Amino acid sequence: MTGARAATVKERAELALNNEFLRKAVRFTTERLRSGKKKAAEEHGNWEDWRERGRQIRLHTIAHLDYYLNLFADNARANGVHVHFAETAAEAVKLTLAIAERKSARSVVKSKSMVTEELHLNQALESIGVEAIETDLGEYIIQLAGETPSHIIIPAIHKNRYQVAELLSKEAGETLPPETSVLAGFVRKKLREKFLEADIGMTGCNFAIAETGSMVLFENEGNARMVSTVPKTQITLMGMERIIPSWADLEVMATLLPRSATGQKLTVYMSGITGPKRSADADGPEEMHIIIIDNGRSLQLGDPEFQELLNCIRCGACLNACPVYRHIGGHSYGGTYSGPIGAVLTPALKKNVAEWDDIANASSLCGACYEACPVKIPLHDMLVYLRRRKVESGHGDKLEAAGMKGYAAVMKSSGRLKAALKLGKVGQKLVVRGGEIRSKLGPLKGWNSYRVAPSLPSQTFRERWDTLDQEIREGLKELDPAVRSRMEDMIKRRAEKGGSGHGGNG
Ligand code: SF4
Repeated sequence: MTGARAATVKERAELALNNEFLRKAVRFTTERLRSGKKKAAEEHGNWEDWRERGRQIRLHTIAHLDYYLNLFADNARANGVHVHFAETAAEAVKLTLAIAERKSARSVVKSKSMVTEELHLNQALESIGVEAIETDLGEYIIQLAGETPSHIIIPAIHKNRYQVAELLSKEAGETLPPETSVLAGFVRKKLREKFLEADIGMTGCNFAIAETGSMVLFENEGNARMVSTVPKTQITLMGMERIIPSWADLEVMATLLPRSATGQKLTVYMSGITGPKRSADADGPEEMHIIIIDNGRSLQLGDPEFQELLNCIRCGACLNACPVYRHIGGHSYGGTYSGPIGAVLTPALKKNVAEWDDIANASSLCGACYEACPVKIPLHDMLVYLRRRKVESGHGDKLEAAGMKGYAAVMKSSGRLKAALKLGKVGQKLVVRGGEIRSKLGPLKGWNSYRVAPSLPSQTFRERWDTLDQEIREGLKELDPAVRSRMEDMIKRRAEKGGSGHGGNG
């Protein structure tokens, strides 16, 4: 796992930045997803209106979460589903293991589910002797590699086909060529056997429809459909915020989610599941459980800074748009969720924020995540809030705090700014080469390891401003007399209004 053992986000990011394979693979795929999303949104037209509709649906649902959760649970029970509520990760795991034990399960096939990653469910199942097999191709690859997902929707984004071929060759017991069709064909065959043998199928849930107690899965490989139809028992685990009120609301979500995630108009498969197999059904599970998980989500309810996090539909668009994620990949964030959503969600899900207080630094605060988000979650504001909370809780970097104090003192006074610039111009001579600062000494190391800093110019803006009037007058001499006269009038009027000089504190 990339940088998994490093202690801080900075150390993990350092490891990722030095991994050329990872950087290339992540950059390649995120670029592809980003341009696909842009094209799909443009082709769809009035994208901003749809984003706003999506946002309103999510705001309304979360504002009435208790009502819709109860409605969903009542309807699901009426459909013959066993509905369970789990307040903590431990409770959700306990409920799952109890079902597996009652069913004397030996193997579980899983479709992609971030919430089961959050619960570390595979390890828990293995601890009671139940084999848990990931059946999404990307998840299967990282399971073989002993890693965690590094992207919400493309878990193996950090691997190229040569690395995948090496992993799958070990599993196959023979050398497989690094050709996508061969590799996918091998996994397909291997997983067919696992689907047929499995005692339990386990899925996540993209959306739960309150009005009918149904759940909806979006996927491209057909594995979720196999997981939810072949084994006799199905367990669906869902975060409690997955609810939407109605099928009509799903139309908006089905417009936003695939386009934002992969640039597809619709995923290859979209399954709506309303209860276990009925007597007239050809297939489907005989027993079905839904476990609705809180695990820190209710901490966000009623929190003015974080409540909108519950609107997230886990599309991954903010990861693809983030210039930081595109360089460091997902494992640098250290938690289950990565990218801008992970940088906010991970500390928001925890009571002990100190453990994660550096994660909000993995952002340039450019706002690209907000622009990309189909439900308009203001992640950049939340990141600023997290940074403020870190400083106010006394976990801030002392050196950074002193630097900011000094910077504020200089910027508050034009005299001090002038003196600082003068000093800087002399001091920089030690580190400037060819007009650029390339030194990696002291605080310059972080910046200059991957880019160069420009030097202070020989003439500052303020110095230039002082001579600007003179330069303009010189320039006017070359103009047509009529234009010159108009310009001179304008300058005169401006001077009379007192606008010829620059203000005091700049
Ligand atoms: S925050 Fe927005 S863009 Fe990011 S995963 Fe959630 S819904 Fe998608």
